[in-house]
Amino acid sequence: MNTLSSKNRSEIIEKMQAETFDLAVIGGGITGAGIALDAASRGMKVALVEMRDFASGTSSKSTKLIHGGLRYLKQFEIGLVREVGRERATVHRLAPHLVTAEKMLLPIIKDGTYGKIGTSIGLMVYDFLADVEGDDKRRMLSKEEVEKLEPLLRTDILEGGGIYAEYRTDDARLTMEIIKKAAEYGALSLNYVKAKKFIYDDEKAIGVKCKDLLKDENFDIKAKYIVSAAGPWVDKLRKKDNSLKGKRLFLSKGSHLVVPHERMPVNQAVYFDIPDGRMMFAIPRHRITYLGTTDTPYEGDINNVYADKADVDYILKAVNNMFPDVNLTVDDVESSWAGLRPLIYEEGKSASEMSRKDEIFESKTGLISIAGGKLTGYRKMAQRIVDLVAKKFDKQEDKEFKDCFTDKIPLGDSLRKASEVSAYQKEVEKKVAAKGLNKRDVEYLVANYGQQTDEILTNFNQFNEEPGVALARAELKFCFEKELCFTPLDFFIRRTGRLYFNIGSIQPVLPAVLKDFKKYFGWTDEQKAAAESDLMLAIKNNSDFSE
Ligand code: FAD
Repeated sequence: MNTLSSKNRSEIIEKMQAETFDLAVIGGGITGAGIALDAASRGMKVALVEMRDFASGTSSKSTKLIHGGLRYLKQFEIGLVREVGRERATVHRLAPHLVTAEKMLLPIIKDGTYGKIGTSIGLMVYDFLADVEGDDKRRMLSKEEVEKLEPLLRTDILEGGGIYAEYRTDDARLTMEIIKKAAEYGALSLNYVKAKKFIYDDEKAIGVKCKDLLKDENFDIKAKYIVSAAGPWVDKLRKKDNSLKGKRLFLSKGSHLVVPHERMPVNQAVYFDIPDGRMMFAIPRHRITYLGTTDTPYEGDINNVYADKADVDYILKAVNNMFPDVNLTVDDVESSWAGLRPLIYEEGKSASEMSRKDEIFESKTGLISIAGGKLTGYRKMAQRIVDLVAKKFDKQEDKEFKDCFTDKIPLGDSLRKASEVSAYQKEVEKKVAAKGLNKRDVEYLVANYGQQTDEILTNFNQFNEEPGVALARAELKFCFEKELCFTPLDFFIRRTGRLYFNIGSIQPVLPAVLKDFKKYFGWTDEQKAAAESDLMLAIKNNSDFSE
């Protein structure tokens, strides 16, 4: 059975109920996905449940950088910088179409965060900790060189700059590819399944009471070990387990804005000082540039997090301060996203000062929870959790599992290097030229799906509408058959990134896409209308900042 096909939902649930798993994972963000892949590849029987869509929590709302976190050096988080810094090259190697090199320009300004010597030493240490080699090593730049590289920067306070290597990704697609790879190793993962309660035997957690939220039906999953990778929801599950004691989460909101690239035509990613002493990113990505982030304590509804007018004003003001000629206004903002950092609370520290390190909590019932950390470090976090579980198996059942080898498991397709990705892209461009798809379409397809673009193009040939519509239908067919896609929001946000990166591309394809959804899932007209109105609400919440 194809356990990634949306039409096999009932069978997947039947399978989840039928056996006792070695490990049940709660949460289908990058952390849960990483754990499922690590555990399944080592030979464990794994079930993962996600209450909304995969990556619909923080893992689709990050800055989308696979980075070492330069600013954590200032907080002397050497261990964190070393670990995630080194992971950058690994994650790039595993998914070169999805994790692409992005040179980061760090302008040095008068009275700025780092200063000339600080930047030079900081970037050198950063390179050293992360084992950066060759052309990727940091380069210090004169004021004139920075001006030439990025003419949009204000010059009156500019003193020079540094340029260093980072990587850019699509967090939601990365999560999805990990879920898919875990499935290849036998893990069963399902979205829209909520872990409601734990099942105990002799005060030990031995299973999870779940609810299929699409059918409103309950079922149980039995497992020898249970890991909660519920991100900002981790404390809610610890509370259900009666183990919310000691350290707690502190949620900090981070918003990003999307503007057309021609309105913010930076030549490369820039990490710049803003007037309140924080720093911000401007990151070009195909047809848009995105800007962020904020870092503010959050006590609102954690299921509905959006950028608000105050976030928009704050980001635009900061950008206009450093790039005075662009004069961005709220009318330039075409989309946005906002997410919650699940940080471990530290008394007396502000949101941006709190550590980004991950933390593992083990309760007396055996529930293991993990929170904090970075997208970039997902593989190492997973390794720590699965090592811990493997040790328990060894001690309690004398059962052994393989060592972690996720650094050798490629994600997404068989393209292995950036050069292979660009050669493949050129090949596809030639192939589709006569079919009405352009270079931009191909760039998007290859960045999103890598070599799986071939399958989408096979689907594309089956549809006779104009190319844009045929392409969206081809993608939906792929996501329905291979990526557990259940709603237009799954499709337009997490599978294709359109709502964030190309919001204007949704309306022209929407009628055809909704019609296909109706056909695939046997929806009534009311169900189709409800799905459409959920999508419209999300578009409004992410793009309408009128007062
Ligand atoms: P989540 O992605 O939130 O996943 C938890 C999942 O658990 C959710 O999908 C939720 O629906 C599910 N869940 C909760 N309760 C239940 C339940 N009862 N049953 C079933 N499922 C449940 N890191 C980087 O490396 N680079 C960056 O550029 C970067 N930028 C960031 C910018 C911002 C603004 C923020 C907020 C974070 C950023 N991070 C970055 C950090 C990174 O995004 C997070 O560390 C990571 O996404 C957390 O993933 P997670 O899987 O732990 O949590």
